[in-house]
Amino acid sequence: MSERTPAAFIGHGNPMNSLESNEWTQSWVDFALSFEKPKAILAISAHWYIGLSAVTAMTSPRTIHDFYGFPQELFDISYPAPGSPELAARVVDLISPTYCGLDADSWGLDHGTWSVLTHMYPNADVPVVQLSVHAGEAYAYHHRLGQALNPLRDEGVLILGSGNVVHNLGRIAFDKPGLGEPWAQHFDDATAKIMTSQPANLVAVLDLPEAPAAVPTPEHFLPLAYIAGIADASLTTARPIVRGCDLGSLSMTSYVVA
Ligand code: ZN
Repeated sequence: MSERTPAAFIGHGNPMNSLESNEWTQSWVDFALSFEKPKAILAISAHWYIGLSAVTAMTSPRTIHDFYGFPQELFDISYPAPGSPELAARVVDLISPTYCGLDADSWGLDHGTWSVLTHMYPNADVPVVQLSVHAGEAYAYHHRLGQALNPLRDEGVLILGSGNVVHNLGRIAFDKPGLGEPWAQHFDDATAKIMTSQPANLVAVLDLPEAPAAVPTPEHFLPLAYIAGIADASLTTARPIVRGCDLGSLSMTSYVVA
């Protein structure tokens, strides 16, 4: 058995982070340099939020620019990492009997995935498979899938959840770079406390009074459920690699499970 590969939740935030070098993106680079290059990456992105669990199964996933109103240079980014039909099939096997579709041509790599990977693996030389976030299922389903995927860590696969602990675009404050509103900071702190002590109980933060503001829709939070499930299955806790908020209503906190 090879050495266990870490799993991580990355707070991807503003798509402009793809082009910038800052405290957040540097933490992603440092993380990638902290362990051996993985054989493949399974990315669980907030931006593939559909009515089922599915994995990209094509050999050459396209780069998807799933945002509007940003500079052309962001739309010009290509992340030509190969796919891995083998990893896609392995994910279906691990999640079974829960259904997981094989996507031949619908999706690809969206900016939740490539905005992070352009920093971590700029040469796009590690095969990447995306796993969708099932929009019809509650927290427990995603936590359980994370548990089921944990064996991939012994097969050299990096499991990467990409979202944001706090993500409320309706309350974005562009005059508050690097800052969080008090409610956002409090929710982020409470989440950090649970992830570093008892990730098996992450769901409890969704009962906090700040939860409706911090998690107005579930898609950016749920990738963290997979990483909490992996920590749970590994009988360990998560470690933050960077902490903090941005633009008032985004948490940029990222976690690693070693
Ligand atoms: Zn996003």
